[in-house]
Amino acid sequence: MSSVKENLLKVRSQIPSGVELVAVSKFHPAEAIMECYEAGQRVFGESRVQELTEKVKALPPDIRWHFIGHLQTNKVRQLVGKPYLIESVDSERLLRLIDSESEKAGVVSRVLMQVHVAKEETKFGFYPEELLDFFARRGFESLKATHICGIMGMASNTDDEDRVREDFRRIAEIYRSIADDSTLGLRGFDTLSMGMSGDWRIAVGEGADMVRIGSAIFGERHY
Ligand SMILES: *Cc1c(COP(=O)(O)O)cnc(C)c1O
Repeated sequence: MSSVKENLLKVRSQIPSGVELVAVSKFHPAEAIMECYEAGQRVFGESRVQELTEKVKALPPDIRWHFIGHLQTNKVRQLVGKPYLIESVDSERLLRLIDSESEKAGVVSRVLMQVHVAKEETKFGFYPEELLDFFARRGFESLKATHICGIMGMASNTDDEDRVREDFRRIAEIYRSIADDSTLGLRGFDTLSMGMSGDWRIAVGEGADMVRIGSAIFGERHY
């Protein structure tokens, strides 16, 4: 058995049922993805529009692609209609653009709102107050071709487990406060994507129902 397949099966056996595994295949070739596909994996994550576009063309049509990278506004038109879920909506401007391009293309885009709680300034996402304000003023109501399915977040990149747990707890609190607010009338707002190779166990402990795991399955990436 190949090591990629072995890694996948090992990770899958550790993830509790009810938690969706996104196998993050960015920078890895189609052959590595096919090894996972043959072991039953159907959900893969990519972070660049060009790479995702090429892989969509080359690989089986029943793969559900998740876009997880920072999406530049000039790439939105090229992307819409391809991913099953865009996990990384990090500004209202980007959300509005995804919506207008989806409407033009005659598709409905499913998205997660990315929230920024990590200590690094380099990470993208809505600040918590900004995101809560977006929902409080019902910014979602004017969307015509976009369905907000939940929230994605990342913890600080640190060995300090307490800090990581605190970050995930914060993201989960924001998620719950929106999902549990029945006055918003949201439907299908039911996804909390957090946790990567190094920290997914902590994320699941704090309530994640989707984890995005790359290097623990595919090995190191060579950028
Ligand atoms: C690359 C990436 C991952 C996967 O990271 P690993 O540490 O390789 O598991 C998860 N989420 C996002 C947003 C990423 O860009």
